Amino acid sequence: MQASRPAMRSLDDALAELLGHAQPLSGMEQVSTFDAQGRVLAEDIVSALQVPHLDNSAMDGYALRCADVPQTGTVLRVTQRIPAGSVGTDLLAGTAARIFTGAPIPPGADAVVMQEDCEPVAPGTEIRVLSVPTSGQWIRRSGEDVRRGDRVLAAGRRLDPQSLGLAASVGRPQLLVRARPRVALFSTGDELVMPGAVAPSDLPPGAIYNSNRFFLRGLLQRLGCTVTDLGIVPDQRAATIEALRAAAQHHDLVLTSGGVSVGEEDHVKPAVAELGRLDLWQIAIKPGKPFAYGRIDAAHFMGLPGNPVSSFVTFLMLVRPFLLALQGATDLAPPGQPMRADFSWPRADRRREFLRARRNAQGGLDLFPNQSSGVLTSMVWADGLVDNPPGCTVAVGDTVRFLPLAELLG
Ligand code: AMP
Ligand code: MG
Repeated sequence: MQASRPAMRSLDDALAELLGHAQPLSGMEQVSTFDAQGRVLAEDIVSALQVPHLDNSAMDGYALRCADVPQTGTVLRVTQRIPAGSVGTDLLAGTAARIFTGAPIPPGADAVVMQEDCEPVAPGTEIRVLSVPTSGQWIRRSGEDVRRGDRVLAAGRRLDPQSLGLAASVGRPQLLVRARPRVALFSTGDELVMPGAVAPSDLPPGAIYNSNRFFLRGLLQRLGCTVTDLGIVPDQRAATIEALRAAAQHHDLVLTSGGVSVGEEDHVKPAVAELGRLDLWQIAIKPGKPFAYGRIDAAHFMGLPGNPVSSFVTFLMLVRPFLLALQGATDLAPPGQPMRADFSWPRADRRREFLRARRNAQGGLDLFPNQSSGVLTSMVWADGLVDNPPGCTVAVGDTVRFLPLAELLG
């Protein structure tokens, strides 16, 4: 139990500490390659074959020997037909093979002439070649994509659709992936009402709809987690302790929103300190200062602020890399990119700021006019965040660091 208040930490410092706690989960499972999207690979995928397997044609046309076509207009006899999926026989000198895209090049042939560059002399049996071929043209070489023994995917990679395709191309029907993190999620706040429980016209004064629950669940699912949604917990010490105690059983992470600020209605932090330990509280970012990390029994605990944009941003900056690290992922955070600001931000803040911004057609960035941490519209309008260092202002034309949301949500 730790009662005293730790100093406010920088984001980098806090993240380094969190990642230090994020021992990869030991569980692994074999899943169908069909179902592996978004999971983190727990093995290297090494190819047992060459891809393409054999030299094959990149075009519908004719396979031939270049030496047989010294000039345009040469006529060759067509002695075989090789559709994709079949193999030809030795190509005799002075002859051509009708060949289709993907079909293996017959032994002896050293080029393919596309059918647009040939004309039939006697249909099916003789062609006139209208261009002089160069050796190797329109031939896809065995192994030009993957060589036997190549590591095509490394352990720690998050499986995207293209990875699944590549794994399939080397013959893998199943992949060994890391276990899904089990996350228990709940929101705190006596003001919270679920959409559907009360119609907007009947919403009592002071009540608000629980929006965090929806995006946090969506974010967790995108990261491959199994989510236990424990709903809304009232702003009471006993209820909070009970919810946390239950959530910590059989889960790798307990994630909460709200109740980690400084008011006397904020029960989450003291409850964690009572049940387990609180390692970290308050981070020098805006939005998102009241973030907390601790442990309850074997489970990690992360408390996000209640303000929706603060909750969203702290999830992206801290929870996301942590959950990826729990799955043994190697790529924990996108690098960001330099972009031109087409806006000004004249008020410097002591905290590092994440401003909701959008790329414009001129190749610059616009800023959402209301950067308040309660304005969720800003996250929907934005396609990324500007990472503004502490104490910095931005003038029109300055270069800023932009973090595309598509990379942070993936
Ligand atoms: P708190 O961090 O509990 O002090 O909450 C800060 C602000 O965020 C308050 O205005 C809350 O009403 C709001 N808030 C807290 N939880 C949620 C939630 N789940 N959905 C939407 N707003 C919330
Ligand atoms: Mg609250």
